[in-house]
Amino acid sequence: MRTGLAECQRLWHRFQGLKRNASMRMGRVNVHTTRNVTATGFGNGGAARLPGLAVPVDLLARPDGFGGVRQGDLLCGTLVLEAGRAQRLDPDSGAKPPRGIVLPRLAEAHVHLDKCHSITRIADVGGDLAAALRAQRADKVHWTAGDLDHRTRRGMRELRSAGCGAVRSHVDWATGPDAPEAPIAWDILGALAKAAAQDGIALQRAALTSIEDMAETDRARQVARRVARDGAVLGSFLFDQAQRHKGVLTLFRLADRLGLPLDFHVDEGLDPALNGLEIIADVALETGFQGPVFCSHACSLASQQADTVARVAEKLAKASIALAVLPSTNLYLQGRRAGTPDRRGLTRLHELAAHGVNIVIGTDNVRDAFYPIGRHDPLHSLSLAVMAGHLDPPFGRHLRTITTTARRAMGLAPLWIDDAASQDLIFFETPGLSDLIAGAARAVPLSEYQKGTPWLIMPRPL
Ligand SMILES: [Zn+2]
Repeated sequence: MRTGLAECQRLWHRFQGLKRNASMRMGRVNVHTTRNVTATGFGNGGAARLPGLAVPVDLLARPDGFGGVRQGDLLCGTLVLEAGRAQRLDPDSGAKPPRGIVLPRLAEAHVHLDKCHSITRIADVGGDLAAALRAQRADKVHWTAGDLDHRTRRGMRELRSAGCGAVRSHVDWATGPDAPEAPIAWDILGALAKAAAQDGIALQRAALTSIEDMAETDRARQVARRVARDGAVLGSFLFDQAQRHKGVLTLFRLADRLGLPLDFHVDEGLDPALNGLEIIADVALETGFQGPVFCSHACSLASQQADTVARVAEKLAKASIALAVLPSTNLYLQGRRAGTPDRRGLTRLHELAAHGVNIVIGTDNVRDAFYPIGRHDPLHSLSLAVMAGHLDPPFGRHLRTITTTARRAMGLAPLWIDDAASQDLIFFETPGLSDLIAGAARAVPLSEYQKGTPWLIMPRPL
C-alpha cells in the first residue's frame, strides 16, 4: 500500500506530466505549492507556528485554555505545535478570516467494505431493503479473494483520502450450519487492517451475523471466539426474527465473557412492530454489560408515538448505547411506494439527542445493491444529515458525530485537537464550516501542509 506521502508525490508528478503535455487547466484541478505556507521552525523538535488557521471549539477538550480569537464556533490564530503536538492558538492573525480549518482525523463508524463498489455488475437494483438483500446475495458468487481485495482496497483508499483515522467495516458472516466459519472477506479485511495501521488508521472489523444463528448458543460461541481471537467486534442484524431476544441475550453474555464490543444493525424498517432497539437496551441494562454497544438505523422509531420514543431514548442513554444515523441508505431504501416517497427512514435523532443519546453519522453503503451511488466520506454523510435531518448551524457541534462521538461509539478514546499529534490532524483550505461540510475542500494531512509538500486540490475521489 502506498503511504500518504508517496501517493501525494505520485499525484504531483502525474499532474506535472499532464500539465507539460497539455499545458491547460484540467477541469477543477488546481495546484497549490509551498509558496503561501508561512510556517516556521520546522525541524526544531517538531515545533512550528502555522498562522491563519481555525479550529472548531467543539473539537477541543479544553477550549478555554487553547487561546485564539473567537469567530462564531471557531477559534482562530496561529496554531503552535511543540514536540509535534498542537498546544495552542496564538491570537496574532486570529482576527482575520482564516485560511484553513484544522480537524482531528475523521471517524467513519459504519461502512461495508465487502459490499462496496459492486454496483456495476448488479443489474436488478432499486427497491426496498428486501430487494437489496436479494440482489446483494446474488452478487456474492463474484466475491472471490481477488474481487474482494480489489474493492476493499479501493474503499479504504477513499476513506483515507477523506481524512479518516478510524473506520469500522461490517463483514457479512455466513448463515446456517456454516455460521461458525469466517468468510473470505474477514481475512482480507484483516490484512487490510494491518496495512492501514501503517498509515495510523484503525480499521475495525465487525461480524455481521444472523441473530437467528446467534440464538444457537454453540454457533454463537464459535463465532465469538473467532472474533475475540482477531480483536474484532461482535455484531448482528436484527429485524423481525422470532429468536431475536434470545440471540441478543446470547451475544451480550458472550461479549461480557470475552471482553468484546457489540454492534447491531437494528430495526431497518418503518414497521412500528420492529422493537429490536428496545430489546438491546433492556438486555444491556439487565446484564449490566460494561463494554461499548453501538447500534445503527433504528428507522422504526420514526413510526412510534412520542412516549415510546422517550422511553426507548431514556433506556439507551442509561445504558450508554450510541446510535448511528445513516442518511444515504435510509433515505434510499425506506418509505418505498408507487410514486414519490412521502415517508423517509431517518430515526428520531433530535429526540434521542435531547435525552442524552450519543448520535453518530455513518456512511453505510457505497455503490452497491443497498445504495447505488454514495461516497466514502464522513463529511459527505454529515452534509446529507444536515439536509435530511435539519441539523442547523452552528455546525461545529455536529462535527462530533463524525469525530469524537463516533470514536467513543467504536470503543476508541476521543481524539481532541488540543495536544493531538500533527499526524492525527487534517487541514482543509477553507475559511468556514459551511464550506467544509459542503465538500468545498479536500482533506490534507496537517503534517504534509506543515512540511510544505505540494498538494493537489482535486475533487474528492470518486
Ligand atoms: Zn450497514
